[in-house]
Amino acid sequence: MTDFGIQEALEKLGVKELNEGSSTGSQWFSNGDIIESYSPVDGKLIGKVKTTTNKDYETVMTAATSAFKTWRTMPAPQRGEIVRQFGEKLRELKEPLGKLVSYEMGKSYQEGLGEVQEMIDICDFAVGLSRQLHGLTMHSERPGHRMYEQYHPLGVVGIISAFNFPVAVWAWNTALAWICGDVCVWKPSEKTPLCGVACQNIIAEVLKENDLPEGISCLIQGDYKVGEMMTTDKRVPLVSATGSTRMGKIVAKTVGERLGKSLLELGGNNAIIVTPDADIKMTVIGAVFGAVGTAGQRCTSTRRLIIHDSIYDKVKNALVAAYGQLRIGNPLDENNHVGPLIDTDAVDMYKAALDKVIAEGGNIVVEGGVLSGEGYESGCYVKPAIAEAGNYYEIVQHETFAPVLYLLKYTGDVENAIELQNGVAQGLSSAIMTNNLREAERFLSHAGSDCGIANVNIGTSGAEIGGAFGGEKETGGGRESGSDAWKVYMRRQTNTINYTTDLPLAQGIKFDL
Ligand code: NAD
Repeated sequence: MTDFGIQEALEKLGVKELNEGSSTGSQWFSNGDIIESYSPVDGKLIGKVKTTTNKDYETVMTAATSAFKTWRTMPAPQRGEIVRQFGEKLRELKEPLGKLVSYEMGKSYQEGLGEVQEMIDICDFAVGLSRQLHGLTMHSERPGHRMYEQYHPLGVVGIISAFNFPVAVWAWNTALAWICGDVCVWKPSEKTPLCGVACQNIIAEVLKENDLPEGISCLIQGDYKVGEMMTTDKRVPLVSATGSTRMGKIVAKTVGERLGKSLLELGGNNAIIVTPDADIKMTVIGAVFGAVGTAGQRCTSTRRLIIHDSIYDKVKNALVAAYGQLRIGNPLDENNHVGPLIDTDAVDMYKAALDKVIAEGGNIVVEGGVLSGEGYESGCYVKPAIAEAGNYYEIVQHETFAPVLYLLKYTGDVENAIELQNGVAQGLSSAIMTNNLREAERFLSHAGSDCGIANVNIGTSGAEIGGAFGGEKETGGGRESGSDAWKVYMRRQTNTINYTTDLPLAQGIKFDL
């Protein structure tokens, strides 16, 4: 098999066979155990990374807290200029970085490039935003007084990210945090540590070229124990954590105990409602891409299809036909639609989910299974499966991070479908396929979808950076990326200025001395 230009990509990104895992910018060091990163694409060892010890972490935090004092005083548009240069470097390195994302995580090369494009887009967004960190002014009730509110930098922002978006989530957070005047410490997933090394190399070069101090962008590596160094650390006022709901509950509690802020982006259980007025062709494209894209490992992947009984068989048959066309294989080969799962643990979870849905009374419509033989040596390739199920099944209530799609039937009014769609613990992404304006508006109304994302005539999967991204309920309630998500990276202050020679008290209170 050709290596699809992986070695060349690693060289361009400065990723070595053995990498230090802790960095404050140009300086790299680490004294912890070694993580080996194997590609789910072909099972080969890509490289190794040393993890961060407590001592390494202290070195990182000393640099970060010191850099914050310089960085926060730099005018926001100048910080924006640094982010602009970072976006330019990403444009230059889009192909090698996209390739590494694909090879280390297993998503298609096109999706790898798409992830880097999201990084570039958020940089552009942040550059504009660096001149728009607006507060409000308000009229004081006291004569000769002026009131306004302003936003100040927060400090060290800790970023904990998941394996499935190994580079974009970091950029969503950092691009905003940096223009807001914060410095960042990032712990990537222990399943994609080399993506972390590559990204840190890219920003370190920009910071060095601009003569900026160490500590503005920091990297730490390891599993949850390294993540806990930040969640328990009072010097980290905001922890932005992306991953499973299980992780989010622990992080929220730990950060909450010290009254820090957490921004949580957790699991989804996303559904598309298909009404009698749906365009079936569009529905099938949206549902298939949503369910099998990234091998079902997006937080916004489509897990449930809620179909009206009058068109149920038509949609089911169209889906079965579409699944029959799917090509499963090396994600760097653009002819394939579906790549591997991240590792064999994920394969075991996929198999367990299929066993469970059968045990609970489900009916398999498209058979699953693990692929073996030439091209599938990593043991991580599985067949996308479809099962008819009940929304109340325990397995349907949970997020299975794999290409398993559940078909649910509804009868009567769209309200019944909305109730099923909302009848899970998670609240990330949702969609309705309909050409009926009343149904669409009911779905989007205050009595409609309870998710952070609600779409009409597009699927659940993916999002543009311009909108605030995140979900409700067990998805954690956080919002990052576009709109006014920047406000969470700043502290808010209300100011009152008296420009008279009197000191009138509020509410007309008299306090004569
Ligand atoms: P995970 O929860 O296993 O790990 C995520 C990160 O959290 C890793 O870096 C891990 O080391 C760290 N971590 C785990 N326990 C921790 C703890 N107690 N303290 C500190 N850090 C800890 O998730 P994963 O398997 O990497 O990713 C898949 C999950 O992420 C899915 O549930 C998916 O829906 C979710 N996800 C959500 C979004 C979103 O924006 N809502 C985006 C991407 C992924």
